[in-house]
Amino acid sequence: MERQLAIRLRGVVKRYGKITAVDGLDLDVPEGTCVGLLGPNGAGKSTTMRLLTAQSIADEGELELLGYRLPDESKQARAELGVTPQLDNLDTTLTVEQNLLVFTHLYRIPRAVRRAAIDRAVEMAKLGDRRDTRVDKLSGGMRRRLLIARALVHRPRLVLLDEPTVGLDPQVRQELWALIDALRSEGTTILMSTHYIEEAERLADSVLIMSHGKAVAAGSPTDLVHEHAGSEVIEVYGPPARLQEIEAEASDHGLRTRRTGTSVSILGVESGNGYAIEGDRRPANLEDVFVLLTGEEIA
Ligand code: ADP
Repeated sequence: MERQLAIRLRGVVKRYGKITAVDGLDLDVPEGTCVGLLGPNGAGKSTTMRLLTAQSIADEGELELLGYRLPDESKQARAELGVTPQLDNLDTTLTVEQNLLVFTHLYRIPRAVRRAAIDRAVEMAKLGDRRDTRVDKLSGGMRRRLLIARALVHRPRLVLLDEPTVGLDPQVRQELWALIDALRSEGTTILMSTHYIEEAERLADSVLIMSHGKAVAAGSPTDLVHEHAGSEVIEVYGPPARLQEIEAEASDHGLRTRRTGTSVSILGVESGNGYAIEGDRRPANLEDVFVLLTGEEIA
């Protein structure tokens, strides 16, 4: 059975003066899936997120969210939507519980189920022993978990996560991934913007790679890797002049390459083409695809 689309964008354009931040974007997010919006800085991810929350209005194109048309029906859409902003806007003078309580009012959760909604959010964020702690006393990771949990108090059908782990250290990032993964297994639909390849590879059922406001590829991480980077890569280290020679040779054999600092990666070596070189063999990954398609190194 075809899944319903939680988000459907067609030909969406958003300009800021001479800059076209989003340039004819199509995006499908099927219900019950986690889609990653992946792209380098300036690709248009945040602008897309702002269009979906109706903080910005598109210049052209169609936007549908949970069956509602934006911007006309944005109020209805927002009621069923959970949003975590990129910037932490928790009230630091309030406790964990009070921050959640404010949102239960905002989302008009009936008094009788307010406590249960807060309990559930606290549980989700694993902040049970911090309920009465003021937010300015929490660690960065705890604040991020609270930020996500706050977006879930009204049990939204769709959650938008804008760079959910930006600026966090790797261990804290792992904790957040576990939280997002739990949300996903509950069947909540998720659209997540990120410039961390690993985050998209781990969490997303499908990924849309953006560059300069456009979608340059879309599909499951596995399919994207298979389609664009093949299955096997040889990585060769050497001085720049040698790397240049290798690039030329590989290109003569119809193989694609990418630079990674002091090495060159030769993609799709499984296809053979009579090409052989000593080096480290590894499976192709989403980072290879990202660099090929966006021309950007990973931050
Ligand atoms: P990303 O989130 O992928 O880093 P953004 O959506 O923030 O990308 O930005 C896309 C492009 O639009 C960039 O060139 C950025 O400078 C520009 N842009 C975004 N917001 C504004 C704004 N409010 N005014 C002017 N230019 C903007």
